[in-house]
Amino acid sequence: MSRPTTSKYPMIPVDDALGIVLSKTKEPIGIETISMEQDGIETFLDRIIAEDATAKEPLPPFRASIMDGYAVIASDGIGTYDVIASITAGVDVPKDTSNNQYDIKPGQVSYITTGAPVPPSADAVIRIEDTENVDNNLNKVKINVAVKSGKWIRPIGSDVQSGQIVVEKNTILSSAEIGLLATVGATSVRVYKIPTVGIISTGDELLEPWERELTNGKIRDSNRFMLLAAAKKSGANILNLGIVQDKNVDLKKMLENAIEKSDVVITSGGVSMGSLDLIKDLLEELGTVHFGRMCMKPGKPTTFASINKNGREKLFFGLPGNPVSSLVTYYLLVDPAIKALSGIPINKCHHPRINTRINMPLKLDPVRPEYHRSMLTWRDTVGTSGEFIADSTGIQRSSRLLSMRSSSALLCLPKGNTTLNPGDVVPALLIGSNPIPPPIHVTPHLDAKLTSKVETSSKDVNLSIGNDDEKTKSEEDDDIPVCACCGVKKTNLVIDDTPPPRYGGINIENSSTVRIGVITVSDRASKGIYPDQGGPEVLRCINDNIKSLWESEYRIIPDEQRTIESTICDLSDRVKCNIIITTGGTGPAERDLTPDATMNVCGRLFPGFGERMRQISLQYVPTAILSRQVAGTRGKTFIINLPGSPHSVRQILPSIFDAMIHISFIVNNSVKIIRKENTIETGVNVIDGDNSNDNIFEHLFVIDQANLDWIESKKRGGGNMTEHEIIDDLFQLIFVDIKNNASVQDTIFTVPRGKGRKKKKTRILLRLSDYNYQWILKMNQKYDLPNVDKTMRIILDYVLENEE
Ligand code: AMP
Ligand code: MG
Repeated sequence: MSRPTTSKYPMIPVDDALGIVLSKTKEPIGIETISMEQDGIETFLDRIIAEDATAKEPLPPFRASIMDGYAVIASDGIGTYDVIASITAGVDVPKDTSNNQYDIKPGQVSYITTGAPVPPSADAVIRIEDTENVDNNLNKVKINVAVKSGKWIRPIGSDVQSGQIVVEKNTILSSAEIGLLATVGATSVRVYKIPTVGIISTGDELLEPWERELTNGKIRDSNRFMLLAAAKKSGANILNLGIVQDKNVDLKKMLENAIEKSDVVITSGGVSMGSLDLIKDLLEELGTVHFGRMCMKPGKPTTFASINKNGREKLFFGLPGNPVSSLVTYYLLVDPAIKALSGIPINKCHHPRINTRINMPLKLDPVRPEYHRSMLTWRDTVGTSGEFIADSTGIQRSSRLLSMRSSSALLCLPKGNTTLNPGDVVPALLIGSNPIPPPIHVTPHLDAKLTSKVETSSKDVNLSIGNDDEKTKSEEDDDIPVCACCGVKKTNLVIDDTPPPRYGGINIENSSTVRIGVITVSDRASKGIYPDQGGPEVLRCINDNIKSLWESEYRIIPDEQRTIESTICDLSDRVKCNIIITTGGTGPAERDLTPDATMNVCGRLFPGFGERMRQISLQYVPTAILSRQVAGTRGKTFIINLPGSPHSVRQILPSIFDAMIHISFIVNNSVKIIRKENTIETGVNVIDGDNSNDNIFEHLFVIDQANLDWIESKKRGGGNMTEHEIIDDLFQLIFVDIKNNASVQDTIFTVPRGKGRKKKKTRILLRLSDYNYQWILKMNQKYDLPNVDKTMRIILDYVLENEE
């Protein structure tokens, strides 16, 4: 006997499959009458009404007061009047004027409460707030305002007219609809019957979920309970029909029984190409198979059949056994079908479809369109109408049910040979009832072009000390350029006005996606009156420095301590950021509160970061001593404060990256952040030889006398440059040369040198740019060298020997 290796069923597109399914669900399964008094409100909730509900009387049925106050004759106007009656809600006020104790004449008023009938001669109500008491007996009242006729009165039928349809046929009865039915007295209504859905799991390997021991080859049945829950959510009555073994006789008996009892039958398993996948053949025997394969991932073998039983056409869905495939295909086909059979109009049975930006690269399947499970968030972006952002639920294997957990959307990915990039927009179907978390507020760096670009001036604002008001002063200088689109004056920095990257990096094995929270703390940036520059600069620095896949949550918040604390906690505890970088609010002004907030929410502090950051900034401004940045950990998140100025961000961040990466690993060793090898080359102007913007530090190195001699020899012939300048220049050239020659780096750091040389050690203080020093550290690590002195000796030996 040979086994078939190809399926006889063509792979049809999902839309066609859904079309076929819905063509079989045109008629709801039936109609019944339900009563509020007898069946209770639970019976009404979520039912689909099968007739229009109309109002038999107008609402309000009498002229009703809208306010607590006095019923008056409007033309009487301001003045003091006799209060002749008190009409509270519920009082039966006669409709005619004769013998009416509540009715008024000119010069009289009646006290009246909200919802009470207005007496026939009154044509307006005066609010209690617009009156004054004149005596303690409440027999008189002073009316302080004049109103027009009709004021504060709801005319008869002004809410609902008599004969008006209040709930239309085919509407889902939710709270407002149930309220409307009650108000018009439609307490007994015709609704569509609820379809009964029988659910069966098939497979010899399946055990009940409460089975403690899993003997070899067995697994617990997850699909049945998952699908029962899903069908309940879709509005069905559910029937748990148990597990059936992969045996023709058992299966056939069970399917016949299920068809008898249910309007819709769902099985999972047994529809693929295995020897015991028997469902398709049985369905051919029992009824008509409309399709046996769909061109999609996951869920290709999904099968749909209809079977005539007791004069009715019953629907049968043979879903695949893999849990994800069965749930995804349930959403795509079965959920709309149940809704249609329940009486919801077919055009309202589809899942809402939206467009979303993806937050990660997604490789397309070359053959089948894919439904990628994702979690959505809404990003409120200032200046745009906002957008959905989709995060993947991780590995999409069809057996990995975890990929469905917390999933709020199925991304509809086309087939293709490419990879979609983070930031690309794809359609998505909203599924399940997983909530979409509250919006992320984002103010992007303005796309505005500056009217002119300015060079860095000597009066450098590279540390945001002081509050936003103080900043305003410097921005009001006339020589500072003005943003062409918003008129905001810029600081004296050459501003990168491209939108900052929000995610990046590449997929590296054993390196998970790094989540980075970026919080700009600034009153004015949060109001949108000042374009945020610190946050975007942090994002650019991250992009320049991190090689692993990374994604960011970027928020702009005011200088409010509570807001800063709760934002840090949210990004740490809920969003689970590995690193949170704040920018702004670190100075000495009253509203500079970022360090205070950070200290309050951190479990441990790392003072070294603050010291290092101030040390760097002190190279530029003496007032950096006043900056109060702190760093610490909260759970598995490392949090660090940077000043608000983009210039300071750029000066500080690259030199603390390695320590940040290290501490992130220590507190959460599942995260290994890989730094970009060419990080230094992306730094400020080092490669092109202009280090004017770079931080220069003195470092003490222990080198060989031969190295020192070589340096000394270079000092000759420097024209009128100072000794320092000559050496700085020399080292700059050395580094440019070596770093640009990545291919020879291996040779430089692995070939032994200085053989036979007398290695007398000597100390030298060298001025190095921070980027170059960082590069030495990196080489030290990469080639596993004992210390930076050794690394420096190797570099110097290389240039010395290469020159000879
Ligand atoms: P099948 O569609 O029957 O070939 O099954 C495909 C895969 O899904 C196999 O690994 C089954 O063990 C698994 N599977 C089938 N039914 C269930 C179920 N009810 N619960 C969990 N896994 C299942
Ligand atoms: Mg099976």
